[in-house]
Parts: sequence; C-alpha cells; structure tokens
Amino acid sequence: MVLIQLLGCIASSNVILGATAYAIAAADVPTTRFAESRLLKRALDPQISTFVESLAVPSPQAEAAQTSLNADPSVTAFLQTGEWIASALTKAACQSLRLILGDSKVDTTPVSPAVIQENWSQTCWKTPTCAVLAQNSKDVSVAIKTIKFLKLKFAVRSGGHSPNPGASSTGEPGILIDLQNLKQVSLSADKKAVSLGPGGRWGEVYAALDPSGLSVIGGRIPQVGVGGLILGGGFFHFSGQYGLAADNVKNFEVVLADGRIVNANSAQNSDLFWALKGGGPNFGIVTKFDVFTTPNKIWYTVSIYGVDQANACIDAFTQWQKTASSDLKSTVALIIGLDTITLGFLYSQPTVPSSAFAAFSNLPPPLVVAVPPTQGTVNSLTQILGASSSPEPLRHDYRGVSSGVDAQLYKDVYAIWKAKALAVRASTGANQTFVLQPIPAGLTAASTARGGNPMGIPQKNHQWFTTLIDWRNPADDTTVRSVSIATTDAWKKLSKERGLEVPFIFQNDASRTQNPIGSYGAANVQKLKTIAAKYDPTQVFQNLQVGGFLLKNV
Ligand SMILES: Cc1cc2nc3c(=O)[nH]c(=O)nc-3n(C[C@H](O)[C@H](O)[C@H](O)COP(=O)(O)OP(=O)(O)OC[C@H]3O[C@@H](n4cnc5c(N)ncnc54)[C@H](O)[C@@H]3O)c2cc1C
Repeated sequence: MVLIQLLGCIASSNVILGATAYAIAAADVPTTRFAESRLLKRALDPQISTFVESLAVPSPQAEAAQTSLNADPSVTAFLQTGEWIASALTKAACQSLRLILGDSKVDTTPVSPAVIQENWSQTCWKTPTCAVLAQNSKDVSVAIKTIKFLKLKFAVRSGGHSPNPGASSTGEPGILIDLQNLKQVSLSADKKAVSLGPGGRWGEVYAALDPSGLSVIGGRIPQVGVGGLILGGGFFHFSGQYGLAADNVKNFEVVLADGRIVNANSAQNSDLFWALKGGGPNFGIVTKFDVFTTPNKIWYTVSIYGVDQANACIDAFTQWQKTASSDLKSTVALIIGLDTITLGFLYSQPTVPSSAFAAFSNLPPPLVVAVPPTQGTVNSLTQILGASSSPEPLRHDYRGVSSGVDAQLYKDVYAIWKAKALAVRASTGANQTFVLQPIPAGLTAASTARGGNPMGIPQKNHQWFTTLIDWRNPADDTTVRSVSIATTDAWKKLSKERGLEVPFIFQNDASRTQNPIGSYGAANVQKLKTIAAKYDPTQVFQNLQVGGFLLKNV
C-alpha cells in the first residue's frame, strides 16, 4: 500500500509509469479480478474513477484511460489543488480520448494538415492539440465530458465554412470536435422528413435527395456545411415561402454539456428546440437534424451583366422587391462583383408566370446568359452555383447588415463600397462582392407557421446585405477588412438617417466582431440566456468554447 501511495505521489505524465504502478499493486494482492479492481479504485483519485465510469465505455478502454489520467501529474494536481496547466491537461485529455475512442478517431500531435486545412478560410487554419473525428453522438458525448471534466478549451466544426477565427477551429491548447464524418442523409419511410448529419455538405444532401424528387430548405452553395448553417438560421432561395432552414427542422439530436444525448422538438425539450433555430453554438452539439422535405423541381435562369449596369440592376431589383416579391415562390439573386454582375431569377416550381420578373424587362441584354431558363431541380442549380467557387485556399471574410427597401440607399452604399473595394483590390488583389438578399415580409410568417424562432426578424419587406471577401496575404487582413467594415457602417448610418434602419444582423453573414444574436431583441436574448443556463448550468459552451457567436458576449 505504501508503495502504491508513493507511486501515486510521484506519478509522471508517462503512461507506462502509471501502468507499472498498477502492475506492482496488483502483484501485491490476491489476483482475483474483483480484488484487483477494488485495489485499483483505492489507488486512483476517486474523481478520475467517477469520471471514467460516467463515460460508460467498455472496460478495457475505461481502465486504460483511467490509468493514463491517474498517472498524469497535471491531472492529479488539477483535481487535488485546482492548479490548471492548460497545455499538459489538454494533452492528457487527448491521450485519454485516444485510448477510449481509438487512434482512428483522435488525430493528435502532429494533427494532420488535411484536418487543419478543412476550414474554408485560411484565417481559421489552427493546429489543435488533437481533433476528435467523431463517428457518432456517443463519441461527441465522450469528448465533451472529457473537456468539461478538465475544463479545456474546444471548438466544434461541421462544414468549417465560417471564416471567423475561433468559430470552428482552435489552436493549442485546445480540442477540435470535428463532425465531418457525421454526414448521413436518410429519408423517413413516408419521405416527409430526412435525417441529416451536421458534417454533410448541402451539395451532397441535395444530390442524395434528388432521385426521390425531393429536397430540403438548406444552403445555396454546395460546399457549405449542414450544422453551422442551420444553427445560424439558414437562408435559402425560397425562405420567403418556406421559412429558414432552421424553421424546417422537426427534431434536433443534441449532446449537452454534461454529455447527455437528448432530442429537442415541439414535444420534448421544446424550449431548447426553439433556441436552436438560429441561436448558434450556445446550447449543445447537434449530432442530427431531422428536417422536413420539400419538392425538388424548380425553375431558374442566370445572366451576367457588366458593372456599368449596376445602378440599372439595383433599380430593377428594388422595383421587383416593391411590386413582385410578395409572390413568395419567386426570388432574385443579385451579386455585384468588381467586374461583372450576376443576376439570377428563381421560381420554386417548374413553371413561372410571365409577370414574375417583369420588373427587369427594361434592362439591356446581358453580356452572357450563363444559365438559360431551365426547368431543373434544387440539386442541378446548386451544382451550377458551386462550380464558380475557387478551389484555391484563400483568406476569407463576410459581413452582414440589413436595411429597408430603397433604390437610392442601395446605390449610395454601392458607390461607397465600389470606390473602396477597387482601391483595396489595386493594393492587395482582394476580391469582394456586394450582395443584396431580398427578404419578403412573408418570411417571418412562414417561420411563425412552423413554430417560430428566436431571431426577431422584422415582418416587413427588407434586405440583408452581405459581402464575400477573398484575399491571399495575412499582412493585408486589416486593409481588406476595412472595406466591409466601412460599408456596413455606411449602411447603418444612411439607413438611420433615411428612416430605413433594420437592426437585425443575420448570423450566417456576420463577421467576427459583429453581434448578430444581440440584434434578435432584448426579450429573445434574455430567453436564450435562460435556456442556455438551464441546459448548460456550468456554462461549458460559454466559457470553454474558443469562439463563435456566444451569448456571454451579447
Ligand atoms: C460560400 C458561402 C456560401 C454560403 N451560403 C449560405 C446560404 O446560402 N445560406 C446561409 O444561411 N448561410 C450561408 N453561408 C454562411 C454559412 O451558413 C455559415 O458560414 C455557417 O457557419 C457554415 O456552416 P458550417 O457547418 O460549414 O460551419 P462551421 O464553420 O463548421 O461552424 C460554424 C459555427 O457553428 C458551430 N457549429 C457547427 N456545427 C455545429 C453543431 N453541429 N453543433 C453545435 N455547433 C455547431 C461552430 O462551432 C461555429 O461556431 C455561406 C457561407 C459561405 C462561405
């Protein structure tokens, strides 16, 4: 016994020493399995054995993890004195996770470049201490319990398309919970709903559903991930008709901070269900989304104009917003670039009334009809839209702001953006876009009809501006980002002066320093905070998660 205590005191971080202590202790006593395990428990820090038992994993893995954790001086020091050495504790946790989940599910030092570079934007390429490549919700549960036990920093990644540093990546010391292997697309027997894994990409989802004549309300670009898009709300071409992606979720499977795996739907944990529909990464890790299906057949056409037609396109777009966007089956995509304008007309069924896009009839002929009028599907359109994405890894950002509908406001902000964006392109090579996303009043009604969400989107015709920004050199970060910051500031100032202010900021377009959840309205924010405190009373997601739009910052 003395030997055991002595070894316990001098235990090093070396796992082998821990195993040796166990071997010597076991040799000292009757060798029945029961006696061994009782002695082992006496030798162990009881907090470790309680923790490992709570993981409910098979005993060989549990014993290996227990021995490893108990042999690590940083772990025992933390548990006995509260001394928290982040780097050593995170390494100990990664080793324990590896022993429990297996080598193939825990990528640890050196973490492979492919895992690090899975994030879309180089601004988010960070090397974590380890990445847990979860295969199921149980793996996620084990990871979050371990993180909570040792109070470690972590990030959660689905598709990795947020360009905001810290949102879905972490450096050392930190653990990345990577959900990219959770990518199921399974249709229910009645085909009214489909279960989606958070790590799937929208292109894969639409392609899998297309042969069944079905689709879902999701993302518009194929590479974007399921998880982050839905938790941020999720704006789709036909959100005016169907609501946001989050409004179309029937059930969320969620791993809570204490590792419990629960469902959130209109009957179970209904407050959590509401909160997850746009409340971001504040409540748990979603491991499955059951989503209502929609028909896949649509109509679309896409044309390219020169930038000399920017004001004419804006005038026509505004006219359409004011006169025809109340036909919720129709939508318009207007993406003004530095050299060309992309104008898309979309209809949510295969036949389109001739009046739907009449507001654009006075525009001159486009430079190119990139996609002629087509009776296609959500899948075929999405594959077309994805083809224009550059495969080259770059630094990226986006930034959002909203306003009322007004052609002069749009044109005035466009002029400010254009001058700045051209100057910055000349000095840095950065590419940027000026995007007006039409939000018809019907969107809020569609959300409400599906149970409502916490986003506080105004029930009126308005627009969500966004900009996608690509550049290469980290030294240009501040210069490049100054354009979108000045542009959104101009939107806010001019909208306010002209009585066109809309405070709402869409989370999925929000840049790192913006406060989208703060724009949901005081009552919704308070309700979200109450729900977060109920499901995560020790504030694991607020205090240990390295980034993302967290309620503690609202
Ligand atoms: C090219 C492009 C096109 C886009 N198009 C659209 C669009 O059409 N509509 C739209 O609404 N948005 C769009 N977006 C924005 C996009 O929705 C967000 O960037 C979103 O965060 C991406 O989801 P993801 O899973 O790839 O993100 P990630 O970067 O993996 O995650 C984003 C955030 O969500 C958290 N998170 C992710 N998964 C989970 C989970 N399962 N449980 C808990 N937290 C989680 C992360 O921790 C992080 O904070 C687009 C973005 C880009 C770059």
